[in-house]
Amino acid sequence: MSTEPLPPTAERPVEDPPPGPHRADRRDHRRSDAWVVGAGLGGLAAAALIARAGYRVQVIERRRRPGGRAATDERRGFRFNRGPHALYHGGEAERVLGLLGIAPTGVAPPARGGRMVRGGIVHLAPGGPGSLVRTGLLGPRDKADLARVLARLDRADPHALSATTTQRWIDGLTDRPSVRQVIEAIVRLTSYVDGPGELSADVALSQVQLGFGPGVAYLDRGWGSLIDRLAATPGVRLEAGVAIDRLDDLDARVVGGIGGRTGTPVVVAVGGPAAASQVTGNAFEAGLGADAATLDLGLASPPRHRFVIGVDEPAYLSDHGGPAAMVPPGRSSVSLVGYVPVDGCDGSDGVEDGDDDRSAHDDRSGPAAVREGRARLLAFARHAGITDDQIVERRYLHRMSVVTSIARASTGGMPGRVGTAVPGLCGVHVVGDWVGPSGHLADAVLASAESAAEAVVAHLRDRPVLR
Ligand SMILES: Cc1cc2nc3c(=O)[nH]c(=O)nc-3n(C[C@H](O)[C@H](O)[C@H](O)COP(=O)(O)OP(=O)(O)OC[C@H]3O[C@@H](n4cnc5c(N)ncnc54)[C@H](O)[C@@H]3O)c2cc1C
Repeated sequence: MSTEPLPPTAERPVEDPPPGPHRADRRDHRRSDAWVVGAGLGGLAAAALIARAGYRVQVIERRRRPGGRAATDERRGFRFNRGPHALYHGGEAERVLGLLGIAPTGVAPPARGGRMVRGGIVHLAPGGPGSLVRTGLLGPRDKADLARVLARLDRADPHALSATTTQRWIDGLTDRPSVRQVIEAIVRLTSYVDGPGELSADVALSQVQLGFGPGVAYLDRGWGSLIDRLAATPGVRLEAGVAIDRLDDLDARVVGGIGGRTGTPVVVAVGGPAAASQVTGNAFEAGLGADAATLDLGLASPPRHRFVIGVDEPAYLSDHGGPAAMVPPGRSSVSLVGYVPVDGCDGSDGVEDGDDDRSAHDDRSGPAAVREGRARLLAFARHAGITDDQIVERRYLHRMSVVTSIARASTGGMPGRVGTAVPGLCGVHVVGDWVGPSGHLADAVLASAESAAEAVVAHLRDRPVLR
């Protein structure tokens, strides 16, 4: 396998479209029944659920267009999500979208014929009985042990593992180091978290069960299609390009004021706990964030291997050109991720927009860490057989916040996460991947959006009518 550096390719910054139909007339919505701060997946889902109950909802978004981390950006005919995104069938996100009449279409990942890389050598991934027998990744005893472990995972109960670290859980599954390494890679792949010493095993096992059971879908037109559908819900109005730094900023805009028993209810869906603390004034614990570097490549032809998982290298690559409208005719694309180990630093929920990419117009630009991160993922792309002359478009995001605050064994796993109610602020609720007792990633976002929306609707139904 060649290790020559890839040549620079023109890389354009992500551009916000000019404010268009999303911009609402400020005056006519001062009397909205509920307000939502943040137009990512969580804020828009909460808004859509409240609107479906018959109320008018005003959403305020800091950036000039909605979507947050679930936005899809178009570059010369390639549609790139903000890193590889898969919707978990049977998860909370699919269920809540179903309540809104949204049944996203897409394709399964190209896992058949997938590869695993260890020590720089590309092996067949042990994805089923046939490939387990044939792969050179593991010796005969390790293969038998992996088969035994995988067969048991199906029946195990995640709820019993909320106070157990993923590391301890894996240690209890097998004492064979090579098998442990493969299980760790599978947990990274399905949870997006490289932090077995911190992540609670209820998340790890649930994600593996979802990934191996009902499976996942790469969405047609990308995750931006969900954003478009949610934002188009009748009764939802969006004003983009306005930041609400504190609830007081909102108070001045809303007739009758916010919160309290008689005021207008508000959902704060601004990403993670640090941003929510700033807006609400309540000190939510920052927790530990899981970050990643992502590289999307537009290709002139399909890669040799369409699904490659690093076993001793925390990275993976997958062909994302399969869903509808993601690539121009005759082209392909792959999405790569490099997991940033969860290292005990505070959550990093301010980097969801991948601004680092804006200074990274070619492979030599940007700070050393950005150049190295990009080069590492380009080198990983070579495991899929991708060559320099295949790459026609690229987009690197250096540090994306995948989970703003992971569920940790030390705080009781998923059930230990905070609820949607903001202490001391009646009528104000938070939504995000760090909120509520169920789901991980977008599943937690949409489950908390549902809880917050239910609380807001109950609040609106119960409050005295003053106007
Ligand atoms: C690389 C990557 C891969 C991922 N892969 C998957 C996957 O495979 N499956 C999965 O389920 N999930 C995945 N996720 C997670 C998923 O994208 C997120 O959970 C989800 O998009 C978060 O939605 P959110 O609304 O909670 O937050 P955000 O998307 O962060 O949205 C918050 C919004 O609030 C706005 N905002 C912030 N502050 C203010 C303010 N003061 N005033 C007004 N607006 C404000 C922001 O601009 C933003 O639009 C992935 C994430 C990343 C980064």
